[in-house]
Amino acid sequence: MARLYVLPLGECCCDRGRVLTPGLHDGERVHIPIVGYLLRTDAGRTVVIDTGIHRSHVDDPDRTWGGTDLAAVLRPVMRTEDIIDYRLAQLGLRGADVTDVINTHLHFDHAGNNDAFPHATFHVQREQVAAATDHPSYPNQYWRLPGLRYNLLDGETDLGDGLLVWPTPGHVPGHQSVRVALPGSATFVICGDAIYSADNLRYDNWAGQQDPVAARASALALMERATAWGATVFHGHDAEQWRTVRKAPDFYE
Ligand SMILES: [Zn+2]
Repeated sequence: MARLYVLPLGECCCDRGRVLTPGLHDGERVHIPIVGYLLRTDAGRTVVIDTGIHRSHVDDPDRTWGGTDLAAVLRPVMRTEDIIDYRLAQLGLRGADVTDVINTHLHFDHAGNNDAFPHATFHVQREQVAAATDHPSYPNQYWRLPGLRYNLLDGETDLGDGLLVWPTPGHVPGHQSVRVALPGSATFVICGDAIYSADNLRYDNWAGQQDPVAARASALALMERATAWGATVFHGHDAEQWRTVRKAPDFYE
């Protein structure tokens, strides 16, 4: 039976306004969830969608952004059990068992543990890889590693077993979102950072995105598709929604 697990991978203590909805809630600190997903398919594939923040942040939260402007608005909060290898172990899995990884994009909280999956094929939009290469906003030490095999995608792609990815640019160029259609009728849309939280839709606020106009268009088109599919939509970093989500070792099927 195919199963979708939602993996809690820690939190970031961040400025709700400046990071998520600029002009609203500025200065209000919130803990936002860092999330990965694991799909086990009937065909025997084990797919991880986004890999979270690198395990070294358990001991050193400032490891990536210490001394930069970002440190003032965003701080990782990770416990040992938030390490992705630990979450996999709770399910009886190891990183080496993972056949595929989909990164919605290559920011440090979505591609931070790519090194944990030595046998996987990584599916990322070509445009995102081009934007991220040698760019300090996408710390290359977490994803651009010898031995990792990237499958560069050019637009919407059916990855089989109910997995569909399509570009949802605006957060960054070549950002992609993921549809997971489980056998039967349960369908899910994993936004990545195309939609951080329900607040972005509620207040029509996209000012926290690199290209707000593109981000708004991507988000509205995403919601339209999700409605047509009857899908459950998982936002990227939604503290309120997080309380309602079924978390691993529990699962959706
Ligand atoms: Zn993010």
